[in-house]
Amino acid sequence: MENNNSNLKQSVTAVKGIGAETAQSLAEMRIVTIEDLLEYFPYRYEDYRLRDLTEVKHDERITVEGKVHSEPSLMYYGKKRSRLTIRLLVERYLIQVVFFNQAYLKNKFQVNEMVTVTGKWDQHRQMITASQAKMGSNESEKKFVPVYSVKGDVTVKGLRRFINLAFSQYGKDITETLPEKMISKYKLGNRKESLLSMHNPLNEEDVKKARRRFVYEEFLHFQLKMQALRKFERENSKGLSQNYDLVKVKEFIDHLPFPLTNAQKRVVNEVLKDLKSPYRMNRLLQGDVGSGKTVVAAIALFSSYTAGYQGALMVPTEILAEQHAESLKGLLEPVGLSVELLTSSVKGKRRREVLERLKNDEIHILIGTHALIQDEVVFSKLGLVITDEQHRFGVEQRRVLREKGENPDVLFMTATPIPRTLAITVFGEMDVSIIDEMPAGRKTIETYWAKADMLDRVLSFMEKELAKGRQAYVICPLIEESDKLDVQNAIDVHVALQTYFHNRYQVGLMHGRLSSDEKDEVMKAFSSNQNQVLVSTTVVEVGVNVPNATMMVIYDAERFGLAQLHQLRGRVGRGSEQSYCVLLADPKTEVGKERMKIMTETNDGFVVSEKDLELRGPGDFFGRKQSGLPEFKVADMVHDYRALETARNDAMVLIESEEFWNGDEYAKLRSKLADSGVLENEKLD
Ligand code: ADP
Ligand code: MG
Repeated sequence: MENNNSNLKQSVTAVKGIGAETAQSLAEMRIVTIEDLLEYFPYRYEDYRLRDLTEVKHDERITVEGKVHSEPSLMYYGKKRSRLTIRLLVERYLIQVVFFNQAYLKNKFQVNEMVTVTGKWDQHRQMITASQAKMGSNESEKKFVPVYSVKGDVTVKGLRRFINLAFSQYGKDITETLPEKMISKYKLGNRKESLLSMHNPLNEEDVKKARRRFVYEEFLHFQLKMQALRKFERENSKGLSQNYDLVKVKEFIDHLPFPLTNAQKRVVNEVLKDLKSPYRMNRLLQGDVGSGKTVVAAIALFSSYTAGYQGALMVPTEILAEQHAESLKGLLEPVGLSVELLTSSVKGKRRREVLERLKNDEIHILIGTHALIQDEVVFSKLGLVITDEQHRFGVEQRRVLREKGENPDVLFMTATPIPRTLAITVFGEMDVSIIDEMPAGRKTIETYWAKADMLDRVLSFMEKELAKGRQAYVICPLIEESDKLDVQNAIDVHVALQTYFHNRYQVGLMHGRLSSDEKDEVMKAFSSNQNQVLVSTTVVEVGVNVPNATMMVIYDAERFGLAQLHQLRGRVGRGSEQSYCVLLADPKTEVGKERMKIMTETNDGFVVSEKDLELRGPGDFFGRKQSGLPEFKVADMVHDYRALETARNDAMVLIESEEFWNGDEYAKLRSKLADSGVLENEKLD
């Protein structure tokens, strides 16, 4: 068996008919071994099966066979262009078949002979515009033909031939890789047959069945890797078992100014369970803007405190750090915790003092930016680290953070609703909690889509809101990959609005080129209502809280991702007044229009992000560079998400089972897992 397996690991040159030169071209397509070649799947199929003319729709591509009914007629236009017409009797129907610029075919058609033609069906004229003709009937021909993406010297035809050669020589060496249990449970085809079906199917059903198998296989490999990572991380990092005081925690929750939503309760339970378990918490907490994540964070921090530990809360910006410090002080100081803020503006003696008190366990909760993970910051007994808006922290920062201190439990909070499908992929090694319920009584933000030429009306609407004593955000056009142009845009809009509002209202300006002190100033001027309007680039997006702001206008909204628009929109609707969001946009495409419509139709961040994912595909969802998304050969994370979930559940069970690690049936899966490098990491630790 091992031997067979290694046969397929040989270079493609072992296939008779594939030489060194071809091998080199194939290598450019990342086909190196025979196995690679066999697993190089078509991206679509061409259908040459005969079809009944009565069932074919106008403009569809069809293949028919029939008898040539009369002499072909040929017409020339100019020197090179020609039109060859034959009349073809297909069963009882007499149709026309037209060939453009294939005059050489004329002599091949013989009256009363059978021919097979493929082309586009024109129902009104009962005519096929043919792309291909074969003399004789269709019988011996292959009828459902794979199309591969190819590179360089390799042609689709050539590749088909290579794959068939590989099959005839090494087909016998293809062995099953999935355990029998799963094959029968999900009624999957066996590996060899499925490979054959991918490359030589008789019909769509063949492809569908084979594809199902490979989608599952691919997801299972991926999820085994993720679950193995998760398991090793839990077991290798001796976590803290935090013995919090449940009575005090309950009391704390009872004294909150509001009852928790059911979703908050569920998530708090999940977090408490993690705190108590000897494993390290590695949990992602997702919850839409305003769903009440801060309270959950406060409960977690308080619980950890009752177990005798310190806590840290990290956020991406100083403004946010200050806001969080304020709300956490409000919740935690009355029950005896000391909460401190540490940002880059805490300097000199004051800073030394904070660091000293932190080391002496006199500060229980420290709040700050990622400056908190610097070396000079030493805790006495760090038990819990929480990060907010974690999508801003990269994978690497996630890792550094986890390596800080005595293996503290880590909770990542994000307000960017990542579709479940992506969350279990990108954050596959993490546990995920979701707050999918808003506190009662929230007003939805009324969202409108306006064309750019309606700006005047939008501004007079804004003026009415301002006259009521409210405030407004104006978000400036996003110019892709050009921070500089973004800033220029914001400056231009700022000037225009200053002119528009004269001295009636004050307009502030915020953008990424300001120093953090300057940003602070601007933000303070807005939150204290010195400025009624704030023009800003997207730097304002994260967590800012000015409840008196009831209106947001977003210029060139079609340039933003839906998740980002939703995030921006979450800056309003924070007070008790009705809030509004106006999207100024002139999208050019149907998809663009669809996206604007989605925004006006729902306030639910998860719905927005699922739709966004459907419209843009997973690659674009996170932006190209930071995507961190795995690439799958056949599987599609969005459309095959059920299979992804199934594979995830199976992988979770397998990784914890004895039979997976020892059973013969699982040897292939284990060796695939070993190939991914996960097991080595484990040994190194
Ligand atoms: P997030 O951080 O998820 O965006 P916050 O934690 O800032 O949301 O909560 C938004 C607002 O909702 C805060 O003013 C908070 O006090 C309030 N809030 C949180 N949970 C509840 C609840 N269960 N009932 C009523 N109000 C709540
Ligand atoms: Mg928040």
